[in-house]
Amino acid sequence: MTALVAAPAHAASGEAVNPWVALAYLVAGVFFILALRGLSSPATSRSGNRFGMIGMLIAVVTTLVTHDIANIVEIAIAIAIGGLIGFTIARRIAMTAMPELVAGFHSLVGMAAVLVGLAAWLNPGAFGITDAADQILVVSRIELGLGIAIGAITFSGSVIAFLKLSGRMSGSPILLPGRHIINLGTLFAILALIAAYALSGAGGAGEGMLIVWITVLAFAIGFLLIIPIGGADMPVVVSMLNSYSGWAAAAMGFTLGNTAMIITGALVGSSGAILSYIMCKAMNRSFISVIAGGFGADTATGGGEAKEQRPYKQGSADDAAFMLEQAESVIIIPGYGMAVAQAQHAVREMADVLKEKGVEVKYAIHPVAGRMPGHMNVLLAEANVPYDEVFELEDINSEFAQADVAFIIGANDVVNPAAKTDKSSPIYGMPVFDVDKAKQVFFIKRSMGGVGYAGVDNDVFYMNQTVMLLSDAKKMVEGIVKALD
Ligand code: NDP
Repeated sequence: MTALVAAPAHAASGEAVNPWVALAYLVAGVFFILALRGLSSPATSRSGNRFGMIGMLIAVVTTLVTHDIANIVEIAIAIAIGGLIGFTIARRIAMTAMPELVAGFHSLVGMAAVLVGLAAWLNPGAFGITDAADQILVVSRIELGLGIAIGAITFSGSVIAFLKLSGRMSGSPILLPGRHIINLGTLFAILALIAAYALSGAGGAGEGMLIVWITVLAFAIGFLLIIPIGGADMPVVVSMLNSYSGWAAAAMGFTLGNTAMIITGALVGSSGAILSYIMCKAMNRSFISVIAGGFGADTATGGGEAKEQRPYKQGSADDAAFMLEQAESVIIIPGYGMAVAQAQHAVREMADVLKEKGVEVKYAIHPVAGRMPGHMNVLLAEANVPYDEVFELEDINSEFAQADVAFIIGANDVVNPAAKTDKSSPIYGMPVFDVDKAKQVFFIKRSMGGVGYAGVDNDVFYMNQTVMLLSDAKKMVEGIVKALD
C-alpha cells in the first residue's frame, strides 16, 4: 500500500486538477479504506488484500495515463523488475521471516521518500513547485524537508529493526549514555534546519548544506531511536515504523501534488499509529516509554550464565493424548514456536479429532504472540481453523480457571507469570494468559534450555500440574494425533 506513485509533470503550481483524475484517485482511496477494513479481521483479510491491489492498480494506471511520462518503456521495465522481485520474495518467504521482511520493505518506502525529496529539490521545475521567480515555494520547502527527514528516519530505523528481528544484530537494547538528550537535541536540530531551509529564499550552496544536514541527521536519529529498543517492545517498533513510512509517503504526496499518495500515506500513517497504540495497551506500556527505549536492558534476549536446573515433569505424546481425550475443555495457546515448526495444520487436525471425541476446543491468541501483529491469526486461518474457536486474551483469560487442559504450543513469554509478579522481569506489566489456573498444562518446546524472545525463565515449566513435552512442535502434535487415533 505504501508504494510511491510516479511523479506528475506539474503539481503544486496551482494548475486545475482534472476532475476525472481526482475521481480516479478518490475511488482508489475508497478501495484502500475497504482494504484496511477487510484486513481488520482474518475472515475478511483476503478480500481486504484484493481491494488494496485494485486501489493501487487504479492509482498507478491513473498516474501513468494522465502525466507526461518521459519514457513509458523505462517505467514499464522498472515496474516489471520490481514486481518480479516482490512476487518472488512473497512466494519464497517463510512465515517466521515475515516481520523482518515487513521491516525491510518499510526501509524501501523511507528511501523512496528521501530520493523523491532530493529529486524535487534538485529539479523543482519538473515538479511544479516553483514560484514566478523560479524559487521553491515555502510550503513545498516545508513538505520537502519533512518528507526527506521522515523518510530517512524510516529508512535507518527499519534497517536496524530488520537486523534485530532477523537475528543479524542482538535483539537486546543498546544504551548510549545521555541518549535522551542526544535524541532530543538531534530532533530539535532537524526541525530547526527545516525551518531555516523553508525561510532561506536564496538557493545555492548554503541551501544545499541545509538539505544535506537534514538528511544526515535524520538517518542518524532513525538509527539512534531504534537501537535502544529491544526485549518485548519490538512489536511496537514494527508498527511504529509502519506508521512513519505512511507519513513519509504522505509528505511526498504533497510535494508531488498526488492525492492518491496523500490518502494512502495518511491511511498507512494513521492505521500504523493506532496499531502502535493498541500494541502498547496490550503490552501495558506507555507509548513514550517504548520510544524512549531501553526497556529490558539487563535481562533481555537469550544467553545468560548457566543456572541450576529446577525439577520438572516430562511426558510423551501418548501421555498427552490420554489426558486430552479425558478432558471436557481444552484451550490451545499457540506462540512463535508453532510458526517455526509450521505446526498449525497438525494442531487443527488434533483439534478436529478431539472435537469428534466430544472435547470442547478453543484457541487463545495473545496480541504479541509470534513475531508480528496477527501472526497466530494468520497461521490458524491458513490451517482453516474456524474463526469462532479463536479468542483474544481479554475474552478467554477468565476461562482458564474452568479449563481442564491448557495446551501451550511454542508460546513462552505470553504465558509467563513473571509478567504479573516479578518487577525486575523485562516482561513485567505485560498481560499474560492465566495458564496456571488450568487443571492440567501441557507445554511444548524443544528443550529446557531454550528461552522465549525476552530471554527469561518461566515458572510454568515447574508447576505441579505442568507436563513438559520436549520436542519439535509439529512432530509432537503429529505424535499426539497418531496416539489419539
Ligand atoms: P516466545 O518467543 O516467548 O517463545 C517461543 C517458544 O517457542 C520458546 O519457548 C521456544 O523454546 C519454542 N520453540 C521455538 N521453536 C520451536 C519448535 N520448532 N518447536 C517447538 N517449540 C519451539 O514466543 P511467544 O509467542 O510466547 O511470545 C512472543 C514474544 O516475541 C514476546 O516477547 C513478544 O513481545 C515478542 N515479539 C513479538 C512481536 C509481535 O509483533 N508479535 C514482534 C517482535 C517480538 P525452544 O527454543 O526450547 O524450543
